[in-house]
Amino acid sequence: MSTKSDLGRYFPDAMPNPAASAETKPFWDGALEHRLVLQRCASCGRFRHPPRALCPWCRSFEATWDDVAAAGTLFTWSVVHQPFHPVLRDVVPYVVGIVEIDGTDGTRITTNIVDTPHDALRAGLRVEVVWEDMSAELAVPRFRAAG
Ligand code: ZN
Repeated sequence: MSTKSDLGRYFPDAMPNPAASAETKPFWDGALEHRLVLQRCASCGRFRHPPRALCPWCRSFEATWDDVAAAGTLFTWSVVHQPFHPVLRDVVPYVVGIVEIDGTDGTRITTNIVDTPHDALRAGLRVEVVWEDMSAELAVPRFRAAG
């Protein structure tokens, strides 16, 4: 189970940072303020994540960025035992999960599930955001069992 270190962190400093782009920058800007914001089509109103230029449903290029609930339900997960990067050697096993964000018509985000015993993981588990400040320029939303 991933739990916070004495430094208030789940993952090490040397962990590779997410590759932000012009399309994902509003997501990361919101995260830095501990706000979960998702891209939403300005034409049909559907959320789209990961962010992309073109709406897959109505083909519109227009989008807004909306604050969404910092909570959802666990859709599926995997317990990672083999670190994909050497700096993660000391944090395995950890959990990669896919969470459906409340109020977004089932929009899913790939994340880490932390502070939650592995035997408590189940589809439909209520989860909430816990922010991990990786640096002064990067905060990453992780999720944990709610309550
Ligand atoms: Zn659309």
